[in-house]
Order: sequence, then C-alpha cells, then structure tokens
Amino acid sequence: MRNYAVIGDPVGHSRSPGMQNAAFEFHHLGSPYRKIHVRPEELGEFVETARRELAGFNCTVPHKAAIIPYLDAADPKALAASSVNTVTVGTDGRLTGTSTDGYGLEKALEESFGRKLAGSAVCFIGCGGAAHATSFHLAECGVKSIRLANRTLEKAEELAEKLRAANPGLAVETARPDDRGTLERWFADTDFLIQATSLGLRETDPAPFDLELLRAGLKLAVFDTIYLDTPLLKRAREAGLPAAGGAAMLLYQGAKSFEIWTGLPAPIEAMRAGMEGKQA
Ligand code: NAP
Repeated sequence: MRNYAVIGDPVGHSRSPGMQNAAFEFHHLGSPYRKIHVRPEELGEFVETARRELAGFNCTVPHKAAIIPYLDAADPKALAASSVNTVTVGTDGRLTGTSTDGYGLEKALEESFGRKLAGSAVCFIGCGGAAHATSFHLAECGVKSIRLANRTLEKAEELAEKLRAANPGLAVETARPDDRGTLERWFADTDFLIQATSLGLRETDPAPFDLELLRAGLKLAVFDTIYLDTPLLKRAREAGLPAAGGAAMLLYQGAKSFEIWTGLPAPIEAMRAGMEGKQA
C-alpha cells in the first residue's frame, strides 16, 4: 500500500483526509491518506521521509512556496506562481510538483454560477498565494481581464507584471481595496469577484473592502475562497447577487490531485460527502 498525506501548520482543521479517503475507498484502495503536522523548520526532514514512504502529498499553508526548492521537477505555471499544492513521489523517490488550485477555482465557478470563464472580467480582492496560484490558470482559461486589489499594492503590482509577461493579450490592473472609486468602476464591469484574502475566517475580521459597493443591478457573481458563510457572501445575497463559498474549490482541487496520483477518475459526489464528514 502506498500512502498519501496533507502537510500544513496548522493542519488539524483540514478536510482533505475525509475527502481523499472517500475517493480511495470508492476505488477499493483503503484509506491511505492522513494529515501530518509539519512546522516550517521540519520541512526538510519531512521531505526525506516522504521520498521513502509516500506516493504523494498535498501542501497547504505555509508550505506551498517553501516546498519548491525540494522538488526535482515542477509545472512551469506553478513555478511562475510560486505555489505548489500537489506533489507526486516517484518509485525512485523523485518529487514532481504542480498546483491544482486554479483548476479547483475554475470548476467551482462553473459549478456555482453556470457561467463561462472565457471572455469574462475577473476581479481578485487579495494577492497572496491563492490569487497567485489561481490567476495564471484563469488567464489560461481565456478571461479577458484580471483586476487585482491588495492591501500591499506592491504585491498586486508584482503579480500583475508576471501575468502580463505570461499573457500578452490580457488586460491587468491593480488598486488598493480601499480605493472606492476604482473598485466601483471595476465592479460595474466584472463577471466574477473573487475574495482571496484570509479575512472572514474570524468573526472579528474587518471586511476586505466596503461591502456597500455590492449593489443590486451589478452583473457580478461573488465567490469567497473561504469555505464559511462570510459577511461578504451574506451582503452579496442581500443585494441579490449570485454568491458561493470556497467548498467547491477545495473539492475540485482535491479531485484533480487524486487523478494526478492515481490515474483514476475522481468520484466527485463521494469526495463531496467525505469532505463534509458524511458517508456517500
Ligand atoms: P496568504 O498568502 O497569506 O495571503 C493573504 C492575503 O490576505 C493577502 O492578500 C493579504 O494582503 C490579505 N490580508 C491578510 N490580512 C489582511 C488584513 N488585515 N487586511 C487586508 N488584507 C489582508 O494566504 P492565501 O494562501 O492566499 O489564502 C487566502 C485565502 O484563500 C485563505 O482564506 C484560504 O483559506 C483561502 N484558500 C482557499 C482554497 C480553497 O480550496 N477553497 C485554496 C487556497 C486558499 P497583504 O498582501 O497586504 O498582506
């Protein structure tokens, strides 16, 4: 039996074991996936053990960028975004990394809103690892523009430069989330608004931008990468806008990881039930 894991710090909250083991069990492959708490200073030691004992692993915060120097090969898109969430361990111990977060977001937007990504205008609030990993993929899906709002404007500008370099036809703009005028202009012409800051996990968190800007009559659909029912989603629904949380993104990024490791089709409904702690 070859084993799999998710590593993170913290990792106790992870829903990946329930979701991935549901997929392995569906294919009569037992329950080989577990969570392993790996602190940043323990990553090197973990990698040596993984080369011998694992067939694959997922990385979550704070290891998505830190794992890259340990890889023997990696997908160029994941390298450009400095974000790897899926590592395959060869029988010779070689590590190959990629990111399935962008695919997860693509499928989640499709499932949640039933709208096409090609030709659409996308606006990200937040430019951390999640926005990096997913924006390159959305560009590949043919979106026409990507607007990036981030508290630290320099980080948005760095990502914008990389996106423009990799996608010459793509329109990319940047702003701070407290720049109401720019956000108002963007929202009037946005199809998908993606909340990708870490704000909303705690009840005391401030809103990622002035939620009054979400008004009835806008054509945008609101997606929060966080898988809780955040104040942002509540406000969007009050304004009559389509709104969805990050559970479907988690599901589809995990489904793609499973397919990469095993070559088997991911049983989506069994994985969804496993993620929610239910039997399929
Ligand atoms: P990260 O790299 O730590 O980035 C955090 C982002 O939040 C940055 O843009 C940061 O802005 C912003 N931020 C943090 N505190 C802020 C504050 N007080 N005011 C304004 N902005 C603030 O995190 P990440 O890996 O990108 O993750 C972001 C979110 O995506 C997390 O909530 C995570 O759960 C979610 N996520 C979900 C999935 C899924 O499958 N559903 C997958 C990946 C990530 P600065 O640059 O200014 O610091």
